Amino acid sequence: MTGVSTERVTLHDGRSMPVLGLGVYEIEENVADTVFKAIELGYRSIDTAAMYGNEAGVGEAVRRAVSLGIAKREELFITTKVWKCDLGYDQTLAAFDRSMEQLGLDDVDLYLIHWPGSDRQNVETWQALERIRAEGRAKSIGVSNFEPEHLTLIMDQCERKPVVNQVEFNPGRTRRQLHAFCKEHDIQLVAWGPLGKGKFVGHPQLEQIGQKYGKTAAQVILRWDIQSGVVTIPKSSREARMRENADIFDFMLTEEEMALISSLDRT
Ligand code: NAD
Repeated sequence: MTGVSTERVTLHDGRSMPVLGLGVYEIEENVADTVFKAIELGYRSIDTAAMYGNEAGVGEAVRRAVSLGIAKREELFITTKVWKCDLGYDQTLAAFDRSMEQLGLDDVDLYLIHWPGSDRQNVETWQALERIRAEGRAKSIGVSNFEPEHLTLIMDQCERKPVVNQVEFNPGRTRRQLHAFCKEHDIQLVAWGPLGKGKFVGHPQLEQIGQKYGKTAAQVILRWDIQSGVVTIPKSSREARMRENADIFDFMLTEEEMALISSLDRT
């Protein structure tokens, strides 16, 4: 065990999620073994989606880890998402059933709208998520890739607001306005593509900051996410990188370093 931190953040519905998780986009081979390894290493949050085509492997890993006593089901936080082609009330209910069949679990911890569609689709899809939550099949519900106008529509027209908004967030894309909007409305930001798909892992300024702490640029970025109040879900299928990405809880970036990393965003 690397002793991945059990640090969690409280969501506005009273539930909580780990600040670090494993993203599994484009993990297509040996999915169950990869996710099982991550759980063995101490990861407790796994981010999948119907679109990734690997929910079955994630579910298998969760069942294996629980049956072997490596983690209790309630310690694991499983996220999946409804894809664009299934937006709409009835379509989403059916898509959720298919996801649950693939996962082979009784419930998920977080169900997200993967990408916004039209206003009408967003409202109807959200109403389906509200029903799924009310039935206890998804413990929490949220969105992904939503802009403030999409969030405003949901907040104006629906009963509940999303607990999270999962968006691209990295030193090249800090989403200042969106981040401020989500903070104001108590919607937790979750960073997808935190390493810019690997683009920032050799960045000289990040490497320089890392040298001070004996950390890599990747670790500096993931630490910056967490200190920015953003949940992060880096993807790796390699054990060494999974360990590296999780070894970020024994140092603190200074305010100057945080500001310098944020200033790398030229968008
Ligand atoms: P990422 O920024 O996590 O980068 C992943 C790539 O970086 C890996 O393929 C690997 O090559 C490299 N990498 C990982 N750790 C490294 C390390 N320590 N050192 C060097 N290189 C390293 O990109 P991502 O996979 O696109 O995003 C993470 C997760 O976010 C996805 O797996 C998925 O779960 C989620 N995601 C969600 C959406 C969405 O629309 N909601 C979109 C993309 C990704």
